[in-house]
Amino acid sequence: MADTNGTEEYSQLRTAFSTMENELAVRDAILRNTSEALAVSDSDGVLTYVNPAFLSMWGYNDASEVLGRKAENFMWSEIQQASGACSFRDNCSMRREMQGCRKNGSAFDVQMAVSLVKRDAQQSPFMVASFRDITKQKALEKSLYKSKNDAELANTAKSIFLANMSHELRTPMNGIIGFTSLLLESVVGDESKTYASMIQTSANSLLSVINNILDISKIESGKMDVSSSTCHVQELLQHAVNTVRFQADQKNVPIYVHLDPDTPRRLVTDSDRLSQILINLLNNAVKFTDEGEINVSCRAEQSLEKLCYQLHFVVEDTGIGIPSEKLEQIMQPFQQVDVSYTRKYGGSGLGLPISNALCEMLGGKLTVESVPGRGSRFSFFVTVYRAGANRIASYSGVTRLNSSFHSLHVLVAEDDLSNQLVVEAILTREGHSVDIAKDGLQALDMFRKKSYDVVLMDIQMPGINGLDATRQIRHITGSEKTPWIIGFSAHTSESDREHCMSCGMNDFIPKPVRPAVLREHLHSMHYVVPEQ
Ligand code: ADP
Repeated sequence: MADTNGTEEYSQLRTAFSTMENELAVRDAILRNTSEALAVSDSDGVLTYVNPAFLSMWGYNDASEVLGRKAENFMWSEIQQASGACSFRDNCSMRREMQGCRKNGSAFDVQMAVSLVKRDAQQSPFMVASFRDITKQKALEKSLYKSKNDAELANTAKSIFLANMSHELRTPMNGIIGFTSLLLESVVGDESKTYASMIQTSANSLLSVINNILDISKIESGKMDVSSSTCHVQELLQHAVNTVRFQADQKNVPIYVHLDPDTPRRLVTDSDRLSQILINLLNNAVKFTDEGEINVSCRAEQSLEKLCYQLHFVVEDTGIGIPSEKLEQIMQPFQQVDVSYTRKYGGSGLGLPISNALCEMLGGKLTVESVPGRGSRFSFFVTVYRAGANRIASYSGVTRLNSSFHSLHVLVAEDDLSNQLVVEAILTREGHSVDIAKDGLQALDMFRKKSYDVVLMDIQMPGINGLDATRQIRHITGSEKTPWIIGFSAHTSESDREHCMSCGMNDFIPKPVRPAVLREHLHSMHYVVPEQ
């Protein structure tokens, strides 16, 4: 019996050993064949086990070259901090990225996950670490980071280029448009008047193409900004219609305006941008309609919270219409229904994409329906706010600044000769006395010696620019001289305008300066809305 028992025990033991052996062999095979590099170290950080993936990752041939050495020898400095951070006293498991140091001394990026394995009180704990080579991932991250930086730099360069281009293109236009306006007011003889008016029409279309190209570039680089001011809906509609009235009259196409009587008269939005959208759509309606009529309508819809309105506009024409398959395409830059349109109707294919983007920036949407041969209907809305009773821009509670409007002393600070002449001519014709300073320094000098009612200050001038000159004028102490300072610049964005105001200017005129606009601004300086 005893024998039988002994044999049975022996055979059980053999089976158990063989199972264990099998299990160990399987575990060893797993450790040897895994692509993850594994290492085990004792509580002093001395390596006691490494798998083949570890050896190949670190460039060693045999475990004997590695075992018995401190783990920190295989890492750059980070390993010491990492092992220091993971004390054997704590239960610890952590993951971090570090640099491995190969046998040949080269470094590589590695992600390490390390765990402390605690056993019973008699047996010391040990550390198990697994490593993943992340050199490629890191290189990709670096290149993405670099691409992002490069893109940001390119974007900044593009914005600077745009701002400069805007200045460079508009400055000569200032001279052309300004002088042509003066010429139109003074020339006699039908022929000369026709020529001057043709120059004016061409200059205006060139300016509108320049503005469109600059606008679309700004939109595409995310540099277009919108502002808010009080907008008189009826005036805005009237102004937009008046802008295209002449062309419509020439084609014998009447324009009918329908303003819903419930529309609040004054609303807060970016009226310049809103007017730009409306004029774009009206221009197209007139351009593509040879007979019939154009209808423009406007109504406001109050939001549920009663805080804001959706201001809806519809511009409907009885013109050539647009095939349905082209409706989506014409909202993309430089797209026209037919390329031959450029020759027949003119245009750059930028008006609609700009209008579409502006609508979205004003919290709205532009849509189009059309039937070829019957006409088109462009509808859009923008989100606007009701103007508060106190936020008045219509000169109520006004303060009169100067009683002698007809003889202002004006200092014009401008470095460009043709602009100097245009502005001087406009002002002297109005009966004002004008002094010219060719830069900010000279303007300051002249301002110290003589008192001026108005300073017309160009922003971009050599030496002291218009902004710094304005700040200094405002800081000249003990002075009774508090001139009305109007900045003028080819940089026409809302942030440029705000920058001018924050430097102490009272008003801003975008270049090119037109006689009527300058007159209007000089007139409006009589009225200042008191600080609320
Ligand atoms: P542009 O008019 O300067 O070419 P737009 O972006 O304003 O550029 O318009 C793009 C195209 O959409 C036009 O060329 C024309 O083919 C079409 N389109 C726009 N408005 C109308 C309209 N009211 N009637 C017919 N076609 C239109």
